[in-house]
Amino acid sequence: MNQFNHVNASTVAEAASLKAGGNAALMAGGTDLLTTLIDYINPTQPATVVNLKNIPNLDYIKEESGMLKIGALARLTDIADSSVVKDKWAALAEAAGKVATPQIRNMGTIAGNLCQESRCWYYRSANNYFHCLRKGGVICQAVPGNNTYHAILGGSGCFSPFPSDTAIALTALGATVVTNKRSIGIEDFYEVLGNTLGNDELVTEIQVAAPASGTKQVYSRYALRKSFDFPVSCVAIVATMSGSNVSDCKIVLGGCVTRPWRVTGAEDALKGKAVNEANAEAVGTEAVKGALALPYNKWLIQLTKTLVKRAVLSLA
Ligand SMILES: Cc1cc2nc3c(=O)[nH]c(=O)nc-3n(C[C@H](O)[C@H](O)[C@H](O)COP(=O)(O)OP(=O)(O)OC[C@H]3O[C@@H](n4cnc5c(N)ncnc54)[C@H](O)[C@@H]3O)c2cc1C
Repeated sequence: MNQFNHVNASTVAEAASLKAGGNAALMAGGTDLLTTLIDYINPTQPATVVNLKNIPNLDYIKEESGMLKIGALARLTDIADSSVVKDKWAALAEAAGKVATPQIRNMGTIAGNLCQESRCWYYRSANNYFHCLRKGGVICQAVPGNNTYHAILGGSGCFSPFPSDTAIALTALGATVVTNKRSIGIEDFYEVLGNTLGNDELVTEIQVAAPASGTKQVYSRYALRKSFDFPVSCVAIVATMSGSNVSDCKIVLGGCVTRPWRVTGAEDALKGKAVNEANAEAVGTEAVKGALALPYNKWLIQLTKTLVKRAVLSLA
């Protein structure tokens, strides 16, 4: 790892100004950032690492007038264990509790989880070995290369799989990402090559409105090694029930997508329907309509379809 200046920011404004100065990287838990520095995955290395963890009062988890508010530095462990979150925002608690290992969840923060860098094995290769499209290069090496775990939905040039568990649950819950400059609906927070944060911007809070009463939530994922692996495919469903029928719902895919991927065709296939085998099968089929398989990742289409079908059935 290169040498760098380490600055303990004591306010959000100070951290934003250091970031805006250029050649500085923000660090929360450091579980993602430090591995990118150790492996030299990026073409340039930051001269300064700005530690956010000394900024006071940014690790809260609270409910205010029916709105869940989570400070950027709240740890994944605390979100997974929070009775407030488990009570009304169960999909988020479930997703936070599925991230990595207890040790990583003890260090990792919600903002770090949302802003973590790609886990595409070409992007992530040491010493910037593959200067890919996502880093300003000209091609996505996954297209002619080994794309076993790459995106089947949302690919447009770059087919990097989307790594964050919590972003998928938060998208289904309709969360808002608050920064030092603005509030952004989470569906507008991501783009194919990363997120939409500006040079002088950092995440300060996540807000989620309380779901309507009678809402059911599910977060389900498939990982190769359940103990700590990233999701190869995952789904979050937030459904409002009317008796045994689903009256409204949001269905969002993660893992084998380039960013949180809302499948509105699948949502339409579920709305107004009872939760049963035939309807769940139809929703699963709709969820992967439009999926584009690269030479080695066709298996993810059937896997995702089945994951969605099982998630729908679990609403019963
Ligand atoms: C072995 C392993 C397994 C993993 N498995 C999973 C998994 O299954 N699911 C999953 O979702 N993740 C997984 N991860 C990733 C892990 O969840 C993230 O590393 C962690 O959540 C990042 O949080 P952090 O606070 O440590 O972020 P950091 O490493 O501190 O930062 C990550 C990125 O976010 C930026 N950042 C941090 N805070 C802010 C902020 N407030 N505003 C703007 N930018 C910010 C940093 O600049 C950096 O680019 C895994 C990681 C490892 C090492």
